[in-house]
Amino acid sequence: MEKIRKIILSENEMPRQWYNIQADMPNKPLPPLNPATHKPVGPEDLAAVFPMELIKQEVSTERYIDIPDEVLDLYRIFRPSPLFRAFNLEKALGTKSKIYYKYEGGNYSGSHKANTAIAQAYYNKAEGVRRITTETGAGQWGSAMSFACHHFGLELVVFMVRVSFDQKPGRKLLMNTYNAKVIPSPSTMTAAGRSVLEQDPDSPGSLGIAISEAMEVAIQDPYTKYSLGSVLNHVILHQTIIGQEALIQMEKAGDYPDVVIGCFGGGSNFSGIAFPFLREKLLNGKDIRLVTVEPASCPKLTKGKFMYDFGDTAGMTPLLPMYSLGHNFIPDKIHAGGLRYHGAGVLVSQLLKDGFIEAKAKLQRECFEAGVLFARTEGILPAPESNYAIAGALDEARKADLEGVSKTILFNLSGHGHFDISAYEKYFENNLPDHELSSEEIDKSIANANLPNLM
Ligand SMILES: *Cc1c(COP(=O)(O)O)cnc(C)c1O
Repeated sequence: MEKIRKIILSENEMPRQWYNIQADMPNKPLPPLNPATHKPVGPEDLAAVFPMELIKQEVSTERYIDIPDEVLDLYRIFRPSPLFRAFNLEKALGTKSKIYYKYEGGNYSGSHKANTAIAQAYYNKAEGVRRITTETGAGQWGSAMSFACHHFGLELVVFMVRVSFDQKPGRKLLMNTYNAKVIPSPSTMTAAGRSVLEQDPDSPGSLGIAISEAMEVAIQDPYTKYSLGSVLNHVILHQTIIGQEALIQMEKAGDYPDVVIGCFGGGSNFSGIAFPFLREKLLNGKDIRLVTVEPASCPKLTKGKFMYDFGDTAGMTPLLPMYSLGHNFIPDKIHAGGLRYHGAGVLVSQLLKDGFIEAKAKLQRECFEAGVLFARTEGILPAPESNYAIAGALDEARKADLEGVSKTILFNLSGHGHFDISAYEKYFENNLPDHELSSEEIDKSIANANLPNLM
């Protein structure tokens, strides 16, 4: 039989609905709380920050939500995305297992972030918003939002985490090309930024700080709203297009995964590929494991605490029930900038707590090693974030071989690494330190967050 290396779908086969896991979760997530009153926040509390349609999606329990035509129209430029069987990688490993990957790097932003950027820009435009503020870590989210905002005629201001701003000048220029304004964070433009700089003028920044800055600017102007690239339920909803497609593609391949793997920053690419498969498990009893892989230097799922915490550093968001390292946590400058976030999305947190998904943490050198092997066999240079998923997939294949069994492994290749080449340079120079957090450091950071116990 001929080898099928790539499973593609036609535009007509593209799913037209996102999947909402909130319909099928046995334990619904706890509500977000107002930090002052400790009462659940209502839609009106969020209206200064997000358009109403996204707030509705945030709390919806409808199983399927129609993708608007304007969004489908832009999706069609790069979706459905291909699913590959990694024959060359399998051969290099000498594994008996089958390894598949869904490739989300083949769009203008180079990552899965375009899937929600387009939807968010669309809903903001439809409600009369003129300007959007947002944060970006490694720059993928900022790039995704820049093009989407420009397409729908919105202005965009991006607060880019300082360490990534310095490491990845190409990303800033890409955002500028799409007409966005990019400001390194912490900045002197906001009270949140100035307060961090007073304490540490050389602060490398963090996603939490950049979120505070972007929110602060947004709430001061009725025509400006804020947009987040991960973590929130509506973001995760938009990413389920990945798994919706992958289900059809695996069926076309005549296969079904035993395990689905994604790297973990705030949860969007993992949830995007995994939740449609989790639906099959919850509703149809399909046996499957879902595995997240996070950096050992930012281990919220494996070592954080399930608690009510803020989504940002300054404490401007509602309190969210999630696994967190504490909102003041400043992760080590690992090169997977998109994974440097102190918390985890509420949906993933609840599902992890309830035992539906697994979490593991890895050191960065092992992940770069996996990424280089992948590049040398499959030809795609992965984003440093995606290397964590690849390393997770290699673990599964090796474990199966030791047990003398063959598994079908599917992972999400969340993006390409063309703007991250300096991180690979450091890896080749043997200049990429491993950093693992001690439990004392974690306890200290959680105590530092100074939160009431609301669980
Ligand atoms: C942003 C990003 C991530 C991490 O964010 P999630 O919301 O956890 O997916 C992972 N991979 C790439 C390529 C990214 O751009």
